[in-house]
Amino acid sequence: MTKKELALVCIQRLKEAYPLAECTLDYEHAWQLLVEVRLAAQCTDARVNVVVQDLFAKYPTVAALAAATPEEIEEIVRPCGLGHSKARDISACMRMLRDKYDCHVPQTFDELLALPGVGRKSANLIMGDVFGKPAIVTDTHCIRLCNRIGLVDNIKEPKKVEMALWKIIPPEEGSDFCHRLVYHGRDVCTARTKPFCDRCCLADVCRYARENGLAPAGAEEAATK
Ligand code: SF4
Repeated sequence: MTKKELALVCIQRLKEAYPLAECTLDYEHAWQLLVEVRLAAQCTDARVNVVVQDLFAKYPTVAALAAATPEEIEEIVRPCGLGHSKARDISACMRMLRDKYDCHVPQTFDELLALPGVGRKSANLIMGDVFGKPAIVTDTHCIRLCNRIGLVDNIKEPKKVEMALWKIIPPEEGSDFCHRLVYHGRDVCTARTKPFCDRCCLADVCRYARENGLAPAGAEEAATK
């Protein structure tokens, strides 16, 4: 089985396991998701969803948040950790949206990437979730699972994983597939415990399961190409 074939199997199995493929951050407007992905660094999505309720109640528009000082923003977002730098980035980002994009979120990857505090992961998330464009979001779950499964070979750097996945994932499947990797990474292929290969829908095609004697009899050979 090639890596492309393996990817198609994983996409299909995870679709069946997790029919919904939604972002776990709650938002109504694109600019709110921009704020939330910055807050989500080294913080759980669940906590971000709580903290932003106060933030968006006090500053309900791009213009309102852009008018706030970084200190005022930090006061609210502190529970997400790294409050000082996150508040500074959010302030600069909202000011750029206000001053350069008439309070709208730009729709190209390069423009998103140029916003303060926005990296490739965040830009891809916005492209996929907000604009419905092809996207590969390489968060910690994606990187761990793709290495274990054998979709990539010992690649840990997010951009390199992203580039490797672009070669094997059909573009229209990328965004949903990455969301499902998050679900699977939380529920089954966990980081802090040993992965629960005994109840994993990918055990017969997964490299880690095969190499650790956890794959069922007759499991597929490793994908090498
Ligand atoms: S078989 Fe095990 S290592 Fe492979 S994806 Fe499933 S839980 Fe993760």
